[in-house]
Amino acid sequence: MDRQKLEEYREYKRQTLERAKKIVIKVGSAVLTGANGLDPRVINRLADEISLLHDKGRDVLLVSSGAVAAGCKVMRSCKVKECLSYKQAVSAIGQSRLMHAYDQAFALYDKVTAQVLLTKDDLKSRERFLNARNTLLQLLSWKVIPIINENDTVVVQELKFGDNDALAALVLNLVEADLFINLTSADGVYNANPLLNKEAKLMPYITDISKLDPEEICQGKTTQGSGGMYSKLLAARRAAQIGVPTLIISGKSRFALERVFSGEELGTFIFPEEKSISRRKFWLAYNLDPTGEVLVDKGATRAIVHQGKSLLPAGIVDVRGEFGKGALVKVIDAGSGKSLGVGLSNYKSSELKQIMGKKSSEIEQVLGQCVYSEAIHRDNFLLGAAL
Ligand code: GLU
Repeated sequence: MDRQKLEEYREYKRQTLERAKKIVIKVGSAVLTGANGLDPRVINRLADEISLLHDKGRDVLLVSSGAVAAGCKVMRSCKVKECLSYKQAVSAIGQSRLMHAYDQAFALYDKVTAQVLLTKDDLKSRERFLNARNTLLQLLSWKVIPIINENDTVVVQELKFGDNDALAALVLNLVEADLFINLTSADGVYNANPLLNKEAKLMPYITDISKLDPEEICQGKTTQGSGGMYSKLLAARRAAQIGVPTLIISGKSRFALERVFSGEELGTFIFPEEKSISRRKFWLAYNLDPTGEVLVDKGATRAIVHQGKSLLPAGIVDVRGEFGKGALVKVIDAGSGKSLGVGLSNYKSSELKQIMGKKSSEIEQVLGQCVYSEAIHRDNFLLGAAL
């Protein structure tokens, strides 16, 4: 990498870390647990490092996994892959242990922690979203450190966030954080999967994450929804879209947080996108679940991707799934099969099927009335949604 560019990146990162006021730190089970379940040394070290940041006037929210791992330890068995109810039950056992460990560790530094358990449903409802936001902001105003996890005991697979990386990205938006730190068991992001490729190199900076293909980087090793680097890159891309930089560093290496804030070059720093999307678009793209797919032709792809236009019924070649008016749907380029983004459909699927391929002037003739000339309005569409 060009020396001068590298200096510029370093300087940008230094200033970002120095100015960060509200930080979401996510820590995964692989960091928190060892052969004997929850590792108290890691928890104590985290409490020490986070308290130091907190003492310097920064607000910190910790998104922590580890409930299932801690519960497994108590039950002396870990059959979480077997059935959902097992996982839900062990997480109930583990969550209180996890919080107890954090409470004790943070108390040594005179810090108060608060447990916040969220489900995807909570953030889907605008009212509950605001409730969660208000509660978290109240806690921060009291200088309390919220420790957030998914409420595993009540969610079924289809209603899960996917993983805590996805949850952490939603929390960034929820509280309007200005920095995301993802503590992982890896040293950072490599340009190929280091477990499969010995030549893989650590990337200290990713300046345009929208150009990065997580599938290629992970080489099929970790797929969407199962954690691993794939979901970390997806979460970082979402963060970048709302203008939040991400730092992916090893939570296993000693005092990594303290070292990185003292200027040491560790892990991977991911730049935010220059033009961030509105929080409303972020909310609709990532808090709602796509319930159908709309396939579009070459002309529509060009209009959407390069001209910033809305999707008209004329460009639609196929509609998949059944959905109602206002549902979130994926828009896919029929030629390449590539997802272009997600948006709210102005029409229900049965109506879209009737008007697809037709000019907007023909909508009234087909449906009896023309309420919208667009199938998906640009204002309700997120191009390049990281799904
Ligand atoms: N909520 C799960 C737990 O506390 C972890 C989910 C994840 O790591 O993605 O064990």
